Amino acid sequence: MATQTGYDNFFEFLAAEGELGSESISRLKTALRTSRLPLDVIITELGVATDIRLVELLSAYLRKPAISPTGSNEALLAGYNLDYARSAGVLPFEVVDDRVVIAMANPLDHSAISLNELYFEKPVDVRAATRKSIQDAVEVLKREAEAPPAASPLENQAMESDDVARLKDLALEAPIVNLVTQMAQLAYETGSTDIHIEPLSDQIRVRNRVDGVLQVVQTLPKPMLAGLTTRIKILSSLNIAERRIPQDGRMRLSIRGQEVDFRVSTVPSVHGETIVLRLLRHSAGVTTLEGLGYQAADIDRLRNASQSPNGLIIVTGPTGSGKTTTLYALIATLNRPGVKIFTIEDPVEYRMDGITQLQVNQDIGLDFPKALRSVLRQDPDIILVGEIRDRETAQIALQAALTGHLVLTSLHTNDAVGAVTRLQDIGVDPYLISATTKLVIAQRLLRRSCDHQALVSGERCDRCGGTGYSGRTVAYEIVEINAALKSMIDQRATEQALRAAVQASGTKSLNAFANDLVDRNVTTRDEVLRVIQQEPADV
Ligand SMILES: [Zn+2]
Repeated sequence: MATQTGYDNFFEFLAAEGELGSESISRLKTALRTSRLPLDVIITELGVATDIRLVELLSAYLRKPAISPTGSNEALLAGYNLDYARSAGVLPFEVVDDRVVIAMANPLDHSAISLNELYFEKPVDVRAATRKSIQDAVEVLKREAEAPPAASPLENQAMESDDVARLKDLALEAPIVNLVTQMAQLAYETGSTDIHIEPLSDQIRVRNRVDGVLQVVQTLPKPMLAGLTTRIKILSSLNIAERRIPQDGRMRLSIRGQEVDFRVSTVPSVHGETIVLRLLRHSAGVTTLEGLGYQAADIDRLRNASQSPNGLIIVTGPTGSGKTTTLYALIATLNRPGVKIFTIEDPVEYRMDGITQLQVNQDIGLDFPKALRSVLRQDPDIILVGEIRDRETAQIALQAALTGHLVLTSLHTNDAVGAVTRLQDIGVDPYLISATTKLVIAQRLLRRSCDHQALVSGERCDRCGGTGYSGRTVAYEIVEINAALKSMIDQRATEQALRAAVQASGTKSLNAFANDLVDRNVTTRDEVLRVIQQEPADV
């Protein structure tokens, strides 16, 4: 998204040109802040300017001629995702003087510009074009690229434009608009991490995930589904006419004066589209290591390891074990003006000032390895690689850790020693692992027992809603890769041998840590069994 300042300069230009009064500009700013729709859509929908006039104004502002995007260079578009092109209103056109000329409906969208620069590995020359002309050009390209569909004409054809218009009307009805706002508000205020909107045979079930567990929060009449899904799709810039394939997007809502971002995922199910909204909390929500439940002596060990100008720190655990939260808490201790910090994530879960956060975008081919190579050309000191899943990412990340960068990452393994064998299994040279890895943390999140302090007998406890739990804390083990372990790794010691050596060194295990929490009544035996001891074998 373009920065507010980027738009402000354009608005000043419009005012100076006598094109817009201050009242129109403040309406535009409000709409930009609250709707999350692209700039060109807002300007045309508010009737401030027609799309053709807007292209003239943007071209004058950019001092670049407008472009008609028909007849794009096909070689340039080989591999480029046309669905992204259509939904983002972005179409690469040709290469001139080693710059990629790109038609854009919103040529002030810096995030789209940098995504395309990373994709093409060339600077981008943006030109304004109407959204309609880009979408039409994409349709032509798609028709040329695809054989005519063999499906029967009765089945699953794209919706007629009347249907799309009807959906848009539904999504603008006040009850639907309010419903989405209230759902988001409830989730935000109860500390939920996700909202699940699930169509069943005769109703819609809404469940929120709180402290890792789903709870039913409401059921809705089935006829609301079309309006509800369309509303969310419009807010997330998704294609409302497409209900047959999964779509992913993002939306931003203002909740009690706070901007809250959501990652949106839609998937078709037999009873209609099911939607999951993930709340992406901003840096105000980044917890400290203390707040997470790390002990003072261990925080010192983590800080010492992360002061080093190079090397690798790994956090392991299954999905939902708080790996990203811990990595960000660590980043927060390292974030200062003299240090250049990059994150590469899928998705970016927290926003933090002072660091550069990059979202992997498979749609345009910006995967982890490609993003990591680009970041390494940007002179980073510290790189957070959201997750290592493949050999190529592992290889680049560990090379970077060897050559003057501190690399933080996560792996999906059950315990700390498992990280070493996982890296070997995906094909990383043991010498590279032993030379770079400083320490490995294995972590789980456990629900905290509620002390029911305010409880008068017979009343339902407000803090925990009667569940007996309120908030979460971490259980963890920290394995420092010392000289003895390094030489075992070099000699390709087995996982069992490494684990025995770690145990013999007196490292407190994840289980022992969790059992201490039970002994101190911080959590319960049941919770430890649910989260740690009964978890299925790692996949
Ligand atoms: Zn309670």
